[in-house]
Amino acid sequence: MSQDTKKFKRYTVTSALPYANGPLHIGHIAGAYLPADTYVRFLRLKGEDVLYVGGSDEYGAAILLRAKKEGIQPQEIIDKYHNINKKTFEEFGISFDMYHRTSEPIHAETAQGFFTKLHEKGEFEVIESEQYFDEEHQQFLADRYIIGECPKCGYSEAYGDQCERCGSSLSPRELIKPKSTLSGGTPILRKTKHWYLGLDKYTDWLKKWIVEDKKGSWKPTVYGQCKSWIDQGLQPRAMTRDLAWGIPVPLEDAENKVLYVWLDAPIGYISSTKAWAEKQNIDWRPYWQSEDTKLVHFIGKDNIVFHCIIFPIILKAHGDYILPDNVPANEFLNLEGNKLSTSRNWAVWLHEFLEEMPDKKDVLRYVLTSIAPENKDSEFTWKDFQARNNNELVADLGNFVNRTLILTKKYYQCEIPARNELSEYDSEVLEELQTYPEKIGSLIEEYRFKEAQFELMNIARLGNKYLAETEPWKKSKTDPERVKTVMNIVLQITANLQILMKPFLPETAEKLSKMLGKSGAWEEAGTSDILTAGHQIEKPSLLFQKIEDKEIEQQIEKLNSSKKQKEAEVQAEKKAEKSDKEAIEFEDFTKLDIRIATILEAEKVPKTSKLLKLKLDTGSEIRTVVSGIAKFYKPNEIIGKQVTLLVNLKPRKIKGIESQGMILMAENEDGKLAFVSPDKTITNGGGVR
Ligand SMILES: [Zn+2]
Repeated sequence: MSQDTKKFKRYTVTSALPYANGPLHIGHIAGAYLPADTYVRFLRLKGEDVLYVGGSDEYGAAILLRAKKEGIQPQEIIDKYHNINKKTFEEFGISFDMYHRTSEPIHAETAQGFFTKLHEKGEFEVIESEQYFDEEHQQFLADRYIIGECPKCGYSEAYGDQCERCGSSLSPRELIKPKSTLSGGTPILRKTKHWYLGLDKYTDWLKKWIVEDKKGSWKPTVYGQCKSWIDQGLQPRAMTRDLAWGIPVPLEDAENKVLYVWLDAPIGYISSTKAWAEKQNIDWRPYWQSEDTKLVHFIGKDNIVFHCIIFPIILKAHGDYILPDNVPANEFLNLEGNKLSTSRNWAVWLHEFLEEMPDKKDVLRYVLTSIAPENKDSEFTWKDFQARNNNELVADLGNFVNRTLILTKKYYQCEIPARNELSEYDSEVLEELQTYPEKIGSLIEEYRFKEAQFELMNIARLGNKYLAETEPWKKSKTDPERVKTVMNIVLQITANLQILMKPFLPETAEKLSKMLGKSGAWEEAGTSDILTAGHQIEKPSLLFQKIEDKEIEQQIEKLNSSKKQKEAEVQAEKKAEKSDKEAIEFEDFTKLDIRIATILEAEKVPKTSKLLKLKLDTGSEIRTVVSGIAKFYKPNEIIGKQVTLLVNLKPRKIKGIESQGMILMAENEDGKLAFVSPDKTITNGGGVR
């Protein structure tokens, strides 16, 4: 692996562009950002030329839909979440060189440039087809604009592109009883044309580039998913949409059409690079167009097809670009036994974490790397968070460093002692120490961050074991020369930890470098003379604090209560939707013949608990009506009462009795019914309007 890296002069590293319609949670961080950040920090530490880019994905149907729902402009939504997420990344220490946004002009220009180039090369086929159209909103309904019954599992609210219950990938035409999410009405079919990229034409190329060449170097999960897509047979895919929110298709005969968001979003990495290079006043091209650049995309598993198949085809079709060397996609992170979910508010939100536990950033980094879903889904729990902090960071790493520095202060007033003759055991320990930079470095280069961090902790464990066996505190009086050697060795181990923890625990590394009065370079890692004899260190303080049960219980409680609150909100919203009936014309209302009538007789309908049979005087005749009010009124209570009657409802038989009309009732929150009666006596037959 280390030989392999030598052929690369520079690195371009990307993390998935988060969609700018919501904040970031720990699942996002564990998937695409923390591993990328660890990787680039390692490369920078080694002095490599590395560029790390990202940004907000700001187009697409979901943002427009949300804006319509909230009655605001899409721009307000993307501004809000771009700013929140950018700030969160900065505070958490995800070290982007450029965090850009796809709504910037330089991005539109770049994405349109790609489209034009592919168009000129004849890569697109224009296909006319019938698609669903909402007449009221004068809009075609793609993806999330349309819902209906899933043809695979019967779920009634499947989206036009996917059923969220069974996970099937769908097209709007497959939905049973389709409904527009804009108007709620049934859409009509209307002809439209789109530009399709012939993915199928690249099948042979993909078989070579992925199936043959990437076997063994790409993660089995990523490789397997790609192979299965290729084996199933690729279909041409529309690269344009009929939408009002996106980058206009740069062709004359493509009015009102925008680029498909999955065409433009990955190109965002390139426009982010351009924006960065412009600021630095350097050439962006080597980072994307030079064969000696290693391109790596960090993503979650839901984006594999876009980064491993569609985007590489676009890059290949363009012709001037390099292809990703690797796409180390992660699986999903779960939370306390359930899937992380924005819609159910089952998440640990990063911006809230940073507010509530500002001194625990490195702890979160450590825990998320320890449980990284590198090859299968994994789970975050607050109890585990506490345990890893207390039993590993505090007890192993923190304790070793603290004991070392406290003893140095006590015995030598913070001055590094010189080593004397080494025992066999001393030499063994120093030899083992030498092996770590290579071990940790190769694991990082293979995207095995969990194991790499475990090796980092093994250095602290080695130090603790060495201290326990040499027991300098017992010999400080009797054998001070021996103790100097031991203390010099544990100090060199500490200095090694300071260097090697930088990619994983950047804040802690910074804190430790202040205490040691030295921040080691990568070349020094593995050596045992980082701290020279006579060098003065600062007074030590603790690297990590124990987390008490109370803090953890508060977090669990917060999680449960925010989920409950969300459930209540959803219930209330559903209720409101129920009552918000469609608007009708006045003519529709006038069709109803509603009159005031007086109850003359009332009796229970035999063998029923709910029904009363009533005789009513409607002014012109006596009508029989069966009404479901027996639970609310006794027959003798209501004789002589004036009520409101829908007179022209078609008669129907209820329990063998012909009911000639319907009494209007008002329903209370608890389901109890009450008559709608005039507050002054009205002549029977008086119209209600
Ligand atoms: Zn389904």
